[in-house]
Amino acid sequence: MSAEPGAAFPSAETRRSFLKKPALATAVLAGSRFPALATEPTPAAGAGQPRYRRVRRWGQTNITKADPARYDVAWWHDYWKRTQVQGVIINVGGIVAYYPSAIPLHDRAQFLGDRDLFAELCRAAHDDGLVVFARMDSNSAHEDFFNPHPDWFARDANGRPYRNRDLYFSCVNSGYYDEHIPAVLREIATRYQPEGFTENSWSGLGRGSICYCDNCAKKFHVNSSYELPSGHDWNDDAYRAWIEWNYARRLEIWDTNNRTTRSAGGPHCLWVGMNGGAVSGQAREIRDCKEILARAEMLMLDDQRRANDSGKSRHSRLRAPRPKRHRTIFAAHDRRAAHEHAWLPDARRHARRLAGVSRLPRCASQKIATS
Ligand SMILES: [Zn+2]
Repeated sequence: MSAEPGAAFPSAETRRSFLKKPALATAVLAGSRFPALATEPTPAAGAGQPRYRRVRRWGQTNITKADPARYDVAWWHDYWKRTQVQGVIINVGGIVAYYPSAIPLHDRAQFLGDRDLFAELCRAAHDDGLVVFARMDSNSAHEDFFNPHPDWFARDANGRPYRNRDLYFSCVNSGYYDEHIPAVLREIATRYQPEGFTENSWSGLGRGSICYCDNCAKKFHVNSSYELPSGHDWNDDAYRAWIEWNYARRLEIWDTNNRTTRSAGGPHCLWVGMNGGAVSGQAREIRDCKEILARAEMLMLDDQRRANDSGKSRHSRLRAPRPKRHRTIFAAHDRRAAHEHAWLPDARRHARRLAGVSRLPRCASQKIATS
């Protein structure tokens, strides 16, 4: 993907038209914005506006299941201050929980022990006035979840579960999405009061993997009168109907999750999923961009490339409603990545391009790079 923000769209005008409703944009740490962020008035900073609308720079931590035993909250707390993020996206649950969940089968991360890592990070962020979005990752589960609920998981044409190593992919037409995930969202929203939720992989299997589980067979037949398509054939009426049906189901999940978080966490407690910046990619994931944008108060666009020379500097790209009001986001999974991520030459080149300047202020680089 090009480093140019919004390169998936043919022109800035088209892009603005496309993103007419939600906020959003940019990749990388736009260092030139550092000095301005603390005092810059925001267009929606008035009383009664949702707090997430005031955020110009988001940071995301990527916690692995092994991290809770060694996670240094104080270091990350300080890092948020040094990078002047105004909102943070923190792993909370899904495949594993980073807090002691009471929801059956929502197992704690392997090394969490008695620790409530999400609570610690959420408290640290809230104490500094940062906005917190809780990040879910819930497209699959381990065998101890699969065994009591085999009907909640996707099957191939031979009836075998779709798997990725030791994980079983959940079926979008099962109780996993209708019961389990809403219960988890309610628990987190009421217990920790995050300002919103994101979701690493919210829409289930893409269109390349037809699910032949009993739930899908029954629901699709009731909806369309067709049997599930035998393969990927755009000339097959059943396949085209299956595509349409799947788009509609993802929107139902989007709406269900938003109803859940807003009823449990307040009217501004958004569930914003996570989406891709390319329409073709969205189509592969069976996500209806137009309808999602019509629903979304804000949108987070994900670019999880992992390249040695660019790290995750383009992890997400967000475009603000008004040109040149960029919002920035970056993600880091450990201290070394956090430092490298902020000051990769590629990131700084991109930041300069975004800012339309030839040099970034020295104070910005010194502020972090020397720590
Ligand atoms: Zn299914």
